[in-house]
Amino acid sequence: MVKKNLKGLTLQELEEFMATLGEPAYRARQVFKWIYKGVTQFDSMTDLPKSLIKILNDKACISMIKIYKKFESALDKTVKYVFLLEDGNMVEGVKMEYSFGVSACVSSQVGCRMGCAFCASTIGGMVRNLSGGEMADEVLAIEKDTGKKVSRVVIMGSGEPLLNYDELIRFLSLLNSPLAFNISFRRITVSTCGIVPEIIRLADEGIPVTLAVSLHAPDDVLRNRLMPVNRIYPILQLLDACKYYIIKTRRRITFEYALISQVNDTQECARKLSMLLKGLLCHVNLIPLNPIREKGFEKSKPDRVAAFEKILSSSGISTTVRREMGADIEAACGQLRRSILDEVKE
Ligand code: SAH
Repeated sequence: MVKKNLKGLTLQELEEFMATLGEPAYRARQVFKWIYKGVTQFDSMTDLPKSLIKILNDKACISMIKIYKKFESALDKTVKYVFLLEDGNMVEGVKMEYSFGVSACVSSQVGCRMGCAFCASTIGGMVRNLSGGEMADEVLAIEKDTGKKVSRVVIMGSGEPLLNYDELIRFLSLLNSPLAFNISFRRITVSTCGIVPEIIRLADEGIPVTLAVSLHAPDDVLRNRLMPVNRIYPILQLLDACKYYIIKTRRRITFEYALISQVNDTQECARKLSMLLKGLLCHVNLIPLNPIREKGFEKSKPDRVAAFEKILSSSGISTTVRREMGADIEAACGQLRRSILDEVKE
């Protein structure tokens, strides 16, 4: 008999499973709490009776991803992890430390199929979705390794989270659950390249997570070139979906804009972007491009970044330049990739 993996089940699903064993709901709550403390052995669940532990050992298991390799930044406290999944696939995740606590950047898919011209995650395509339990495991592994509690989660690793919708929602509910991670939705950011119908679906879900939208261009001609998804969901459709998200959740949207030298960092681009976003409840995060080995693009020079920011700010658009973290270990935005065994062994 295949053992049932309990990691990733919602509390309700775990209660249903325990009921099939003839156990009351409070037993499910006990097991649930242990799982999200990072415990993987039923024998370590000290408040369960021995008889139940034996049954659980026979019928169930708790999966755990492994840290295959760790890269520690010499510049800041950023750590990039290469996680080994149970089927041998690997994904990357990142731990960042700020004055307000530890943040985890989590991958949602093995690889990515969105094909953005400047991003490493899409090289080699998409292999599979991660389960909600595997995403939760990325956070647990970071907590276990650092000995610190993760207080913010950004789903900005490899993959397009809105194309893995059901498992994303499962993960978000685990993050928010008081008996699991207990992280408020406001401290969770879901980043998307702009899958319009799924943005609308998320807006209707009633969970006020922060939505980050990777925009990177102020018009369709340029965005089509940089982000193939724009050919299906062009900018005006995307912005309509964003407006809907703002109305439904009352949350401010973050637009991410990677500044690529001589491509999307001109003053004209900045002016067009200002016009596009004027009046919208939003914040713009400018990210000087993190160069990717295989791609030909270069980072904008600091003076061009400053000029771009000035145009946006003077139009009344809240703008920041993202602090670069972990650039020396390829842990920055767009640098996470599908790892291949030979590569990480070096
Ligand atoms: N698929 C989602 C989640 C990935 S988030 C999305 O597109 O939003 C990763 C963020 O890093 C996105 O905003 C992405 O556009 C950005 N990014 C990708 N490559 C980058 C690069 N080379 N430099 C800076 N940011 C990059």
